[in-house]
Amino acid sequence: MRMKAAVLREGGKPRPFATTCPVAVEEVELDPPGPGEVLVRVGGAGICHSDLSVVNGDRARGLPMVLGHEGAGEIVELGAGVTDVSVGAHIVFQFTPSCGRCRRCLEGRPQVCERAAATKSKGQLMSGARRLVDLDGAPLNHHSGVSCYAEYAVVDRGSVVVIEDEIPLHEAAIFGCAVMTGTGAVVNTARIRPGDSVAVVGLGGVGLCGLLGAVLGGAETLIAVDLSDEKLGLARQLGATHTVNAAEPGCVERVRDISGGGVDFAFDLAGTIKALETAYGCARHGGSVVTAGLSPTGARFSFEQSDLVSQEKSIRGSYMGSCVPVRDIPRFISLYRQGRLPVDRLLDRTIGFEQVNEAFDRLSDVATVRQILVPHGL
Ligand SMILES: [Zn+2]
Ligand SMILES: [Zn+2]
Repeated sequence: MRMKAAVLREGGKPRPFATTCPVAVEEVELDPPGPGEVLVRVGGAGICHSDLSVVNGDRARGLPMVLGHEGAGEIVELGAGVTDVSVGAHIVFQFTPSCGRCRRCLEGRPQVCERAAATKSKGQLMSGARRLVDLDGAPLNHHSGVSCYAEYAVVDRGSVVVIEDEIPLHEAAIFGCAVMTGTGAVVNTARIRPGDSVAVVGLGGVGLCGLLGAVLGGAETLIAVDLSDEKLGLARQLGATHTVNAAEPGCVERVRDISGGGVDFAFDLAGTIKALETAYGCARHGGSVVTAGLSPTGARFSFEQSDLVSQEKSIRGSYMGSCVPVRDIPRFISLYRQGRLPVDRLLDRTIGFEQVNEAFDRLSDVATVRQILVPHGL
């Protein structure tokens, strides 16, 4: 079928993106779903930092590509052999499908599925196919097996999680990346306990979802760290007990003072080396550092090795919040509907295709938490 999609052909163009227009809204051809795949009508797609990092060239990927990895929609057609979901079902995309058969899947860690990692890096679906073609007949890469900055998406059955119908799709979108990555890092990767002290460094979509996860998990002292006073104010409203502006001299010492010598768990949810260094400095003796953002390709972090031994510090990576999406997305949505995970507070505005480049400017300027592209309008 012919449809509209947001295509990136060249990364690293200069700002402002509203002028240089790295993302082109094009008519493209979408092939029908193959065996084991589904066709989804996209209801909402989040403008996330992982898309920005492809646009600004921080993390190179195979281009041209239809962007978008965080989103939600409705299944409108089933490929051959798909029998366990129905047309009409509402879904959230998961940006790492899982094969269910590799060593990591069998361990209950689908977020690090080895087969998915291989096909994703090539811009393919799990089957090895690409279902997107431009009007000159050239294939377009999929972003993380999803490519939801488009009116429709064909994805692997393993790239969708069925959700309840009651939640609007433009609100459900954020569960596909920010909530899984941020909230999951706190409740799944770190598994904080009630009474723990926690610092969250970086208050973008992922960071604020991490903060909400720490509230849910019962953090006693919950310190939010960011460069933006506005976001620190929002963090307070969402349950931070203390806030520290990262631009303050002695920011790490402030966190250590507030928490009586450092926190039990320090999270880098910004994906910068500076944020990781800050988080590392905030962790107390015997504490843990969890990092869940992606810094530019090649960026390095150094630390004193003896800290790991003599202080028994640990540093852990967290991908997709160590989530099992089919388990976690429905339960996070249920908590949202109960008012206990108020992620709607992070949604700034909905946009149309024509605002995509400007939306990446806003995200670069840290002037927004989450903007949602609604391809068919609200
Ligand atoms: Zn697997
Ligand atoms: Zn994302």
